[in-house]
Amino acid sequence: MPAPDPSSLPLTLLQEVFGYSAFRGEQAAIVEHVCAGGDALVLMPTGGGKSLCYQVPAIARHRRGQGVAIVVSPLIALMHDQVGALEEAGVHAAFLNSSLSSEEAQQVERELMSGRLTLLYAAPERITTPRFLAQLTHLHEKGLLSLFAIDEAHCVSQWGHDFRSEYLALSTLHERFPEVPRIALTATADDVTRADIIERLALQDARIFVSSFDRPNIRYAIVEKEKPREQLLRFIQDEHEDEAGIVYCQSRKKVEETATWLESEGIRALPYHAGLDAELRMRHQDRFLREEGLVMVATIAFGMGIDKPDVRFVAHLDLPKNIEAYYQETGRAGRDGLPAEAWMAYGLADVVNQRRMIDESPAGEEFKKIQRGKLDALLALAEATDCRRVRLLAYFDETYRGADGRPLQHCGHCDNCLNPPATWDGTEAARKLLSCIYRFHQNGGQRFGAGHLIDVLRGKMSDKVAQYGHQHLSTWGIGADLSEAQWRGVLRQLVALGHVFAEGEYSTLALAESARSVLRGEVSIRLRVATQAPKRGKVSRSG
Ligand code: ADP
Ligand code: ZN
Repeated sequence: MPAPDPSSLPLTLLQEVFGYSAFRGEQAAIVEHVCAGGDALVLMPTGGGKSLCYQVPAIARHRRGQGVAIVVSPLIALMHDQVGALEEAGVHAAFLNSSLSSEEAQQVERELMSGRLTLLYAAPERITTPRFLAQLTHLHEKGLLSLFAIDEAHCVSQWGHDFRSEYLALSTLHERFPEVPRIALTATADDVTRADIIERLALQDARIFVSSFDRPNIRYAIVEKEKPREQLLRFIQDEHEDEAGIVYCQSRKKVEETATWLESEGIRALPYHAGLDAELRMRHQDRFLREEGLVMVATIAFGMGIDKPDVRFVAHLDLPKNIEAYYQETGRAGRDGLPAEAWMAYGLADVVNQRRMIDESPAGEEFKKIQRGKLDALLALAEATDCRRVRLLAYFDETYRGADGRPLQHCGHCDNCLNPPATWDGTEAARKLLSCIYRFHQNGGQRFGAGHLIDVLRGKMSDKVAQYGHQHLSTWGIGADLSEAQWRGVLRQLVALGHVFAEGEYSTLALAESARSVLRGEVSIRLRVATQAPKRGKVSRSG
């Protein structure tokens, strides 16, 4: 085989076409593997530099006469940006998606068939049309199909947060063109999703490249919800005045209310959710990208493919579905590498809501079981009293390490590392609470919600207490030493730990099987100090 033309060497291309001096992290190994025709699955965090992993091989292979690389992407805005940047760098690239007129699309198709294009970006639903597949077959017969790059590959997984059914049909690419190398890329890397991508895209023989998922410039903080709006306002005013940020809320209504309220408090904020008309949504997105210091209050409809480097904070007023979603959403902060913050306010209602959403979803039992497991992992992160970063990375099977490669237990840069939370032995309090629910159950099998439970524990005479005669229960008033807020904290942690269920329209409480071991004193429970430790409880510093 003749020596390759030096102008097609990866490092030369990186420097001459992109103007970067060196590959980052795993990029060099990935590029080399794909240039040589290998299949790859690339797991790299947002901002890690995934695009170059297929762009450089595409250019190298095109220069060697191997034709065009097809890039599958679900994100129209991203296609525009990337094609624009490539053309500017002198690389012939184009895209095919619903934003083109039929004449424009035909023009792109002519370019494609001529073999002049280096990269073609296309939406997944386009790629699997008979017409497009016929065009690919034609190119393939002429030896002009160099590479398939499948971006946002987690979209193929039903367990993931962004399933797109069109992605399932992409397995046809491998069936029809088995010799054409494929590179699949994603920033979502948990085990289940990873296995699913491999299976559904038939990547069993692909080499897997896992980059570190650490985002060292992001500081993580999770606070207990008291008055969430005021807490958010204080967070913005104290630490992010006039800086760009994203505030995630679960519902459209809450998005609107929060944006309006922030505006009234002098913070420039815009709402964004799928219920706004397309034009307004576009306008808000453009303003957020272009103007400085705007806060976007949004549902998760906002964010995918948004590449704004100087987002200084991402705040969550509601709990995301799982750790991947949390990681993706918070990952939109600090893409420029400068200090940024991921802040979340979290409370009992969040736990109850997320659990209920899973329970009430029409999905099958297997799916629900996986979702519950994922939610539990996120709750453990929220309740953690040790390093958030270590836990977050552990979820992605990564050990947090120092510069010398030694595993570390503390990042020194998250809320728990900076301010180790005081903890107290909550075993006794937990037992009181659980036995109170148990007494309700014995006393007529009736179920009650958090408010009534706490009234009984604290010995507060309410109408409901009188109505049910609960002042005669043995657990009446046994928890007068804790405040209402402290009891809510205990209950939240017991729900998060799965010892208590909150079910139905009124979130009535019931004991899980695992509560027995706590009641029997076999399990001890350490709780974060909410506002203040109980007078008699032991307080210790953890971490
Ligand atoms: P991802 O798709 O993984 O979120 P991108 O491909 O958009 O990340 O890259 C993120 C940023 O990092 C881009 O601005 C890109 O130009 C830059 N970048 C990527 N690789 C390098 C490199 N080797 N040297 C310098 N900058 C790089
Ligand atoms: Zn830490």
